Amino acid sequence: MSVVSDDPFGKPPCRGCSSYLTEPYIKCAECGPSSVLLCLQCFTRGFEYKKHQSDHKYEIMTSDFPVLEPGWTAQEEMALLEAVMDCGFGNWHDVAYQMRTKTKEECESHYMKNFINNPLFSSTLLGLRKTKDSHFADGHSFTGSCS
Ligand SMILES: [Zn+2]
Ligand SMILES: [Zn+2]
Repeated sequence: MSVVSDDPFGKPPCRGCSSYLTEPYIKCAECGPSSVLLCLQCFTRGFEYKKHQSDHKYEIMTSDFPVLEPGWTAQEEMALLEAVMDCGFGNWHDVAYQMRTKTKEECESHYMKNFINNPLFSSTLLGLRKTKDSHFADGHSFTGSCS
């Protein structure tokens, strides 16, 4: 009967590859009531399952990131990506200022190491952001008048 849910100890396996899910993993926000859970690999591969389409909205499920680097929490990872999008890539001074918790050297090397070389992870996180912040995408210009 109900084997999949309500298990406080184990997580259900990935719908795509049946491997045990480790956080962060993806939960479809549109399929229900029994949730479609995917590991990041299957998610980025665009796995589809019955009603579940790869363009469904999703949530990243994580209580505590298996952090990419000790000393960086999930919140800081998100904040870093956000800061880079706000301030612009390479503007580490402002990124660090927005982060507050990290120096500009830390921000730069962490970003370079974990996001530039790890497109899977960053595209997942950025994809999540994009759904929220898509209004930044067009014609966002500096304040002040020109000409
Ligand atoms: Zn999988
Ligand atoms: Zn779905």
